[in-house]
Amino acid sequence: MPTGNVLPGPKIAPWVCPSCREAVPRLLPNGLRNRVRLTERNMVLQSPEIHAALTKVQGLRATEVCYACAEIYQELLGTLIRPPWEEGDARSSPGLNDTGIIGALLPIAGRGTQVLIFHAVHGTLCNTETEELRQLNPDRLTYPGSRGAIAPCVWSLYEDHVAELHSGAPPSP
Ligand SMILES: [Zn+2]
Repeated sequence: MPTGNVLPGPKIAPWVCPSCREAVPRLLPNGLRNRVRLTERNMVLQSPEIHAALTKVQGLRATEVCYACAEIYQELLGTLIRPPWEEGDARSSPGLNDTGIIGALLPIAGRGTQVLIFHAVHGTLCNTETEELRQLNPDRLTYPGSRGAIAPCVWSLYEDHVAELHSGAPPSP
């Protein structure tokens, strides 16, 4: 039978992931669905200031992203981030007072994932920057060896998140 008669079934056809906005296959090579349903814990750190900032993000929220994007969410949420102009490797040095934290990632239909970055402004967490995931420079992510001059409200959020990851507790829905 000529192979030209083989039509891709509905499960092979790609779908556009609302996060990376790429046409990705519906199935992974191992046969699993290439769509991961996000829970709030995958997207948002637990803080009243961050929850308040979410209400200002316009647009329809998507609920499922591709597998690769779901992995990126896990990597980015709760990660410390430094300003775009700062250079060098902060891994072994103490944190700086302009270090912020990725407090939320929201997949917005038609606009891709919005990454919400928070800094301490007069001791309170503020959404100082919102960047599209595809535009975010990964060199900005920072893993300081100690708190250093990082604002206490940013550092405690970071520590709580790391503690939760290490506790191995299953994420609540
Ligand atoms: Zn994606």
